[in-house]
Amino acid sequence: MAAKWSLSGALRGMFQRETITEETWDDLETALIMADFGPDITEQLIEALRADVDRLMVDDPKDLKRMLRERLEERFAEYDPTLSLQERPAVILVVGVNGVGKTTTIGKLARFLVANGQSVVVGAADTFRAAAVEQLATWAQRAGSAIVRPEREGQDPASVAFQTVEAAKAHDHTMCIIDTAGRLHTKGGLMDELGKIKRVIEKQAPISEVLLVLDATTGQNGVNQAMAFIEHAGITGLVVTKLDGSAKGGFILAVQERTGIPIKLIGQGEGIDDLTGFTPHVFVEQLVG
Ligand code: GDP
Repeated sequence: MAAKWSLSGALRGMFQRETITEETWDDLETALIMADFGPDITEQLIEALRADVDRLMVDDPKDLKRMLRERLEERFAEYDPTLSLQERPAVILVVGVNGVGKTTTIGKLARFLVANGQSVVVGAADTFRAAAVEQLATWAQRAGSAIVRPEREGQDPASVAFQTVEAAKAHDHTMCIIDTAGRLHTKGGLMDELGKIKRVIEKQAPISEVLLVLDATTGQNGVNQAMAFIEHAGITGLVVTKLDGSAKGGFILAVQERTGIPIKLIGQGEGIDDLTGFTPHVFVEQLVG
């Protein structure tokens, strides 16, 4: 995984000291803030770690590093990162603001599922942007999945979603991934549209996952923009993209705690294989070093 997430660069000075001093705590605070944990989590972590250090009477910065790892793992343990895809077909609805990496994520996820023996159909229910449909078609081809496209520009997105699930059933596809629009300026309309898409799908099959895609490089501001989805779209999991380009690994914990929704996938590049499941202990290991 990308070393850019790592705190250890910022913490190098801290670990070179022989004992834990006030400067150690300053370095740790700076490293956590720089990594985008946000002020609240940073303060809570520092407070908890200060208490740990006092209680256990340790003064070696290496012990502090181990304790930081443990504290982070403990917080991640509250959330289950597993994708729930037992239904056949398993229907995955993918939502998010334009530009966050929704279509790219669908392409990568389709590829991952196909590589694991699944038969996948993707549905282009972002019907207002011809370019979005073409982009999804290119990804579907690369991933080896089928695609259901709108018959004309501006077709009712819910009808494309319906046809996608219908095609999955007719052709025994095991997985069905549906792309949706992310136009921010029509928030009310967009949420109504998503509601309709969900109702129409549920007439044929339960929805296994509603994944909200978030861009790590936009940080908390991106979460603010996506709040309407969190409040109205019944999100079951988060996908955080563009972690490769940012040193903002702490965003992962901050966003999960802010929304109360587990991170299920992370995107770390523009290539088709640059998507992985989220494994907290691997992530913490990378982050803290
Ligand atoms: P959408 O509008 O949400 O469907 O976003 P796109 O899938 O079109 O992606 C927008 C841009 O982000 C494209 O240039 C993608 O190549 C890029 N992108 C998507 N995911 C990642 C990622 O994990 N890392 C990086 N570096 N770029 C990404």
